[in-house]
Amino acid sequence: MRRAFGFDVLACPRCGHTMRLIALLEETEVIRRILRHLGEPTDVPARAPPLIAAGGEGLGADDTPGLTYDREPPPNYDEPC
Ligand SMILES: [Zn+2]
Repeated sequence: MRRAFGFDVLACPRCGHTMRLIALLEETEVIRRILRHLGEPTDVPARAPPLIAAGGEGLGADDTPGLTYDREPPPNYDEPC
C-alpha cells in the first residue's frame, strides 16, 4: 500500500507511530457485526464512474461537472493517542 498509494497502513493516524497487526478478518458476517456495533455502514459503496469514457476519450476531474474527490483531513500529530 505504501508503494502503490503512498501511505503506510500500519502508521497510527493520530501520532504516526507504527501499529501492530493483531488480526485479519475474512468472514463477511463477522466484519458486518463489528461494523454494525461501531455504527459504520455495512453495504459496499457504489463504484465511482470510470474516468475513461467508452469511446476512449479520457475524462479528468476537471472535465466532469460535479465530480469531486473528498479527502480526509490530515491527522493531528500534536494530539497524544
Ligand atoms: Zn498513535
